[in-house]
Amino acid sequence: MKPALIVHGGAWDIPDEAVGACISGCRSALDAGWSILSRGGSALDAVEAAIVVLEDDAVFDAGFGSHLNLEGRVECDAIVMDGATLRAGAVAGLQRIRNPIRLARAVLERCPHMMLVAEGAERFAKDNGIALCDPEELVSDAEREAWRLCSQDEHAAAHHRGHEQGTVGAVALDAQGGLFAGTSTGGTCCKLPGRVGDSPLIGCGCYADSTAGGVSCTGYGEAIMKIVMAKTAADLLRDHGGSFCVSDSSRDHASGTSASCAGDTAILAAREAVHILAQRTRGTGGLILLDCEGNPGFAFNTPRMAYAYVASDGSFFTSV
Ligand code: ASP
Repeated sequence: MKPALIVHGGAWDIPDEAVGACISGCRSALDAGWSILSRGGSALDAVEAAIVVLEDDAVFDAGFGSHLNLEGRVECDAIVMDGATLRAGAVAGLQRIRNPIRLARAVLERCPHMMLVAEGAERFAKDNGIALCDPEELVSDAEREAWRLCSQDEHAAAHHRGHEQGTVGAVALDAQGGLFAGTSTGGTCCKLPGRVGDSPLIGCGCYADSTAGGVSCTGYGEAIMKIVMAKTAADLLRDHGGSFCVSDSSRDHASGTSASCAGDTAILAAREAVHILAQRTRGTGGLILLDCEGNPGFAFNTPRMAYAYVASDGSFFTSV
């Protein structure tokens, strides 16, 4: 099997001044994942490594530098899913974990359950050798300032100007045919404490099935959940593999890459899923995916999405 990798850093109204940081962050994540895959490593290791890079980068809304909730605290969610077994490891409402994707992986590999939340998830982390941090260590100066402005005034994107951020994700296929997808987020800014969006929910913010493909989503979680967007995209890949044809209207929600009805199933499935999001919920967002052969697809109906992938000729492509 030829390895494949695609990553994203969120679909939002990314301002011009943040474009460079989003591009270099996605590129570093791609490098981290690809250095594992290209040496014969596993898709699970590649997804984890790519997402750790994005979580550690304050430009993105995951791990350090996540948006703050209404009470001024970071609450992170993450998931990783195995396309071969359909098993997932998911965590939500974390306040003391630097790299939520590492804990999601520990749940996947070492827990009889598929999802743990809040204190229970943090206790599982401790019991499994994942260090807890001080919640303040996850708060960036820019997010603290944006939260201060939101609480004095009202929540407004303008308070986040220059550091609008997005959820992060990665999908990888390895040489042995292993397919994994992962998503990690700090959720939406000024959310109610305890709010969980689409990101860590199986089928909503992430899905992987080796018979179809792997998907990671970003955008307005309350809308993405309504159409179970990641599973919807995976079903489109499976049901239409090879002979996909979308309605002309869905081209309005294009990824910017031209695609034909005869092929490019991955691109067309991504577009159709975002089209369904817009049509059925009026919601905004985007997704990345790999079909089961490793062909990349992506689409969004926000002004921008940060993403990067390794093309079939081995070249790296990064865009915002
Ligand atoms: N989907 C995430 C959430 O609703 C936010 C994002 O993708 O930026 O929590």
